Amino acid sequence: MKAKIRRALLKLRGSKRYDYFDEYERLQWQPIMENEKYQFFRLKQLLNHAYETVPYYRDIFRSLDMRPDDIRTKADISRLPVLTKNIIKTNKSGLTSKAFKADELITLSSGGSTGEPLKFFTHHNFFEEHNATFMLSLKIAGWKENERLISIWGNPNDGRIKPGLKTFLKNVLSANLHLNAYKYDSSTIRDWIEHIQAKNNTFIYGYTSVVQNVAEHIIDKNIHISNVKGVMTSAEKLHDWQRILIQKAFNCKVYDQYGSREVPGIASECPAGNMHQFLHSAYVEYLPVLDHPENRCKLIVTSLINKAMPFIRYEIGDYAVPGSRICPCGRGYPLMEMKIGRIADRFITSKGKTIYGTFFVRQMYDIEGVKNFQFHQLDTHSIRLNMIKSHNFSEIDIHKISQIESNIKQALGWDDLSLDVQYVDEIPKTIGGKHRHIISDVTG
Ligand SMILES: [Zn+2]
Repeated sequence: MKAKIRRALLKLRGSKRYDYFDEYERLQWQPIMENEKYQFFRLKQLLNHAYETVPYYRDIFRSLDMRPDDIRTKADISRLPVLTKNIIKTNKSGLTSKAFKADELITLSSGGSTGEPLKFFTHHNFFEEHNATFMLSLKIAGWKENERLISIWGNPNDGRIKPGLKTFLKNVLSANLHLNAYKYDSSTIRDWIEHIQAKNNTFIYGYTSVVQNVAEHIIDKNIHISNVKGVMTSAEKLHDWQRILIQKAFNCKVYDQYGSREVPGIASECPAGNMHQFLHSAYVEYLPVLDHPENRCKLIVTSLINKAMPFIRYEIGDYAVPGSRICPCGRGYPLMEMKIGRIADRFITSKGKTIYGTFFVRQMYDIEGVKNFQFHQLDTHSIRLNMIKSHNFSEIDIHKISQIESNIKQALGWDDLSLDVQYVDEIPKTIGGKHRHIISDVTG
C-alpha cells in the first residue's frame, strides 16, 4: 500500500521515475537481440542530440566528415574518438549541450580516485533514469518496493546534490535510512548495527570497504544477524574474500553492482551470481589490452542517460572481460565477467613492466589478523604496505607477512623491490570517501 501511495505522489509531482522503472523491468525479460536494437536506437538518439546541440561533438563529426546518419552499425561508433577525463576538464563548456538553460544544469563531481575530482553537468531526468535503474538493480537482488533500504554511503559531496540518490532514498523508498559513512569508528558501527537490526526485511546498500568493516565488527562481536535480505556493494571492487566475509556476517547473499558517478547503472548482479549489463542505460565497448595476463579489456562506455553533457565513448578507467555464457536466470541482458578492476590499480617495476594490482591483493587473502591494507608504490623499487591489525593478529600472520616481499620478488622477478611494512591505525580514503587497496605514485 505504502509503495502505491509513493508511486502516486511522485507521479503527481511530474516524476517519470516509476514509468522508467516499469519499462526497465519489462525490458530485462526481452530477448537480448531486442534489447540490443533498443540500445542502438537510444545511442542514435544521443548521437543526434550531441551533433545538434553539443559544440564539441559537432566539431568532431565535421572533422571526420560524418553525420550521425553515417553511423549505421555499432562498429561505426568506434570511428568517434575516445573521451578522456582530461578532455572533459579542459573543455567543459564545449561539451555542454545548448539544449539546456544554465539553471537546468546540475553539477556533479566524481569521487576523484586519483587527483582532483572530475566535475560535470547532468540534468533532472538523468536522476530519474539513474534511480529507476538503481531500483531495478535492487529488485533483481530481491528487494521489494515496500522494504527498508539502508544505505551506508561515504561520498561527502552527496549532501550538496539536490535531486540525487540521497534525496531519492529519503523520499521515495519506504522506511529507508542513510548512514553517513564518510567518518566512522567502532562506536558508530555499533549504532549502525542497532539500526540494521531494528526491522525485518532490510536491504543494505553501501561502499564495499565500509560494509566490509561493518561485517568484521559483526563477526568480531559474535552478533547474529537474521533480518537482512540482501547486501548490495558498489563504488569499489568487491574482492572474493570480502564477499565471503560479508555473506557470513549478514547471513545473506551479496550482490555486486557496477557503474560510476559519471556513468551510473552499467551492470548489476543477478541471483545466479552473474553480472548483467544494463543495455538501456549504457553502451559498453571492450578494447583489448595488449599483454594483459588475464585478457582483460579496457572499458569504453557511453552513458545513454546524460543529455546535458553527453559522455560518448568515455574512458572510464576500468578494465573488464565480456561474458560469453548465457545466464540461467533468463534475463535479456548480456553478461560481463565479475573481474572488473581499475586500470590505475597497477605498479610499474624498475624494468618498466606493468604489474596488475590483483596480484598484490591476493597476497593478503589468507592473512586473517589484518583488518585493512593498502599497497602504496612510492617509486619503481619501493612499495609501502600499510596495514591495520585486528584484535586476532597473530604470530602466524607476522610470519606470512614477512614472506610477502620474497613471494613478490620470486613470482615477478622484481629483484630490487623493497617492501616496507607499516602498521597503522587508519588508511586515508580518497576525496570521494573510497578505500583503495592499491595506489601508486609512479605513472607510465
Ligand atoms: Zn542472470
